[in-house]
Amino acid sequence: MCPVPERYSIMSTARTLVTPKSLIRPEVLALSAYHVPPSSGFIKLDAMENPYGLPAELRAELSQAMSEAAINRYPDASAFLLKEDIRRLTGLPDGMDVLLGNGSDEIIQILAMALAQQNAVLLSVEPSFVMYKMIATFCGMRYVGVPLAEDFSLDLKATLVAIEREQPALVFLAYPNNPTGNLFDAEAVKQIIQASPGLVIVDEAYYAFASDSFIPLLSQFNNLLVMRTYSKLGMAGLRLGFLAGPTEWLSQFEKLRLPYNVGVLPQLVVRKLLQHHDVLLSQAAEIKLERTRLLGNLAHIEGIKTYPSEANFILLRVKRATDIFEGLKQRHILIKNLSGGHPALNDCLRVTVGAAQENDSFIAALKDTINQLAQG
Ligand SMILES: *Cc1c(COP(=O)(O)O)cnc(C)c1O
Repeated sequence: MCPVPERYSIMSTARTLVTPKSLIRPEVLALSAYHVPPSSGFIKLDAMENPYGLPAELRAELSQAMSEAAINRYPDASAFLLKEDIRRLTGLPDGMDVLLGNGSDEIIQILAMALAQQNAVLLSVEPSFVMYKMIATFCGMRYVGVPLAEDFSLDLKATLVAIEREQPALVFLAYPNNPTGNLFDAEAVKQIIQASPGLVIVDEAYYAFASDSFIPLLSQFNNLLVMRTYSKLGMAGLRLGFLAGPTEWLSQFEKLRLPYNVGVLPQLVVRKLLQHHDVLLSQAAEIKLERTRLLGNLAHIEGIKTYPSEANFILLRVKRATDIFEGLKQRHILIKNLSGGHPALNDCLRVTVGAAQENDSFIAALKDTINQLAQG
């Protein structure tokens, strides 16, 4: 064996100590990591997942296809066939293309990386999806959040003033919005697109549960792009999102997409599932029915205010949100506690619409918790 040369053995003492604090960008040090709580053993109503499994025949078809997949090979880097399927199913207007992301989170990151010139601004509304701010920050864009009105509708005037003042390179609007669940007024969104000097991304993560979309308007505005994900439609575990818009823009963003960001198995399984799109859409229809039923049940519980939803979750305002959240947890039900985050969400909870039995368990546990809190 070779002896370790002398100069290596003294190096560690001679060098000044490198720490994360001395080396990592201050804006990264200041971030807190996106927190995902452990959920094993819980009825999981915290993350807008589709509660339903797939029919047995479809599962068998998937197993067969996966067993034959060439996982020793890199995936098709352009994911050509998958993109064709998405284009067709989404009904993209002519001249529009798609960019695929490992979840739509990755697409937000690609956009921010591409547009993060010195002093460039990413603007969104608040409260909304927290990743806009987080990704802006770690990609070196300045984030500006414009408060929504008290009923969580767009404050159009304030938003237009902020756009004029900040000249954002990138505007994100979640349509429907997360975590509030409402669809913004489409005319107001159009005015924002019109007034924006940069790109506007309409984030349609919940399109499957909503009554409106900006996809048909893509060809009307040259600064509009629409982002979607299949996560909320039943494929959260596969990680696939896409951005739809003019090729002129997407071909630039393509340069930042890592070549194999969508693996062999996600490409294959998403394609199979899109061939059975009707199964997923009927599950979404079921979730919408459950959403109506859940809203009805919640309306009968005193001290709870619900907000209208075009998504697969419901925002609630309660008394003592954190106590209720903890009470539900003790009863093995996991929802999202939004209290203590954005001030407009004080005493707010967000519950994902689950399967009928899960929703019933949630309602029963909620009533039980409220009764217990009233007594003690
Ligand atoms: C869930 C969600 C996303 C991200 O979904 P992915 O799983 O990363 O595709 C994006 N935007 C909004 C508004 C969401 O709620």
